[in-house]
Amino acid sequence: TSLFAAVEMAPRDPILGLNEAFNAEKNPAKVNLGVGVYFGDDGKIPLLAAVKAAEKARLEAQPPRGYQPIEGTPAYNGAVQNLMFGKDSELLAAGRAVTCQCLGGTGALKVGADYLKRLLPDASVYISDPSWENHRALFEGAGFPVKEYAYYDAATRGVNFAGMKAALAAMPAKSIVVLHACCHNPTGADLTVAQWKEVVAAIKERNLVAFIDMAYQGFADGIKEDAAALDLFAASGLQFFVSSSFSKSFSLYGERVGALTIVTDSKDESARVLSQVKRVIRTNYSNPPTHGGAVVAAVLSSPELRQMWEDELGGMRDRIRAMRTSLVANLKAEGAPNFDFINVQRGMFSYTGLTAAQVEKMRADYGIYAVGTGRICVAALNTKNIGYVAKAIAAVLK
Ligand code: PLP
Repeated sequence: TSLFAAVEMAPRDPILGLNEAFNAEKNPAKVNLGVGVYFGDDGKIPLLAAVKAAEKARLEAQPPRGYQPIEGTPAYNGAVQNLMFGKDSELLAAGRAVTCQCLGGTGALKVGADYLKRLLPDASVYISDPSWENHRALFEGAGFPVKEYAYYDAATRGVNFAGMKAALAAMPAKSIVVLHACCHNPTGADLTVAQWKEVVAAIKERNLVAFIDMAYQGFADGIKEDAAALDLFAASGLQFFVSSSFSKSFSLYGERVGALTIVTDSKDESARVLSQVKRVIRTNYSNPPTHGGAVVAAVLSSPELRQMWEDELGGMRDRIRAMRTSLVANLKAEGAPNFDFINVQRGMFSYTGLTAAQVEKMRADYGIYAVGTGRICVAALNTKNIGYVAKAIAAVLK
């Protein structure tokens, strides 16, 4: 018999599977609110002007395509650190951070998870309830038991902070806590700065290890504002992990640009930690690809391109906000119940409170695709489809 005779079909990825179904949808008015991608008002994934300019310069320079260092280039890693902590950061000056270019935010989480498994083999990982659906699979894949901490409050469509604090207080020492820096995926419900202060204090008190997932820096309030949690962790003196993704903020999804940053206690620790993380990378994919990282480094290190990028990022942020406001107004006009919470939620996503049955009805009756949990991607709304979407939501709620 064949080696593969007994292999079972794995379930489709819930979100990528939705894309396949959407592509096969015959309804000409179809709308895909399932994906985690930013689209412009024209319904297309933008190619940022800053990226285009950096790519043009790179193409003209025709650099050779040698191997990169295992951890990526200092130009990229340094630029990423400055973006996260600010260029005048004491933590950076003290050499307490090591950064490796990784394959998107996912790659950074995976390298971090594999390294943590070597560092803390008996730890458990805690993710928010709910969380980005790949968090669980990724940390389980790295060999950790994965548990959840209370996070979302369906009644307020906000954060159940009392529940979260109680969960943190009950975690065994050295547990790994995965936190979303901003623009929580899938709920859009973020912690306030005051709440972050309490989280940092609880993590310190319980001797926990924070792994901060930063996939949307600049999408909530701004580059600096969205790093508020990182500033608090930096000031705390704690050691922690950060995964960064530039998929959304540079609209470079397929180039797989991200980074893992580990904050240690000293420059000497950083050197030893980096040597170990390099072993994880070397035995996984050896070293990162050149193009995306070079483009991001070029944009971040040129004052002119950096300004252009910040303006374009601001434009994406403003468009998402405008779509939130417009969706709430359109729903009100359609006579739907109160959806004001959509204006409070931040980032690309919103937990709408729609049930799986209502989501299914939107698909069947309107060709509108959303995740069964009721998550919609606000960044997939535009001035042409928003009226239709609001009508559909109001109709399935009747
Ligand atoms: N973490 C969160 C919370 C995300 O939402 C995403 C992307 O959807 C990622 C990580 C992964 O990002 P990337 O596409 O760069 O791997």
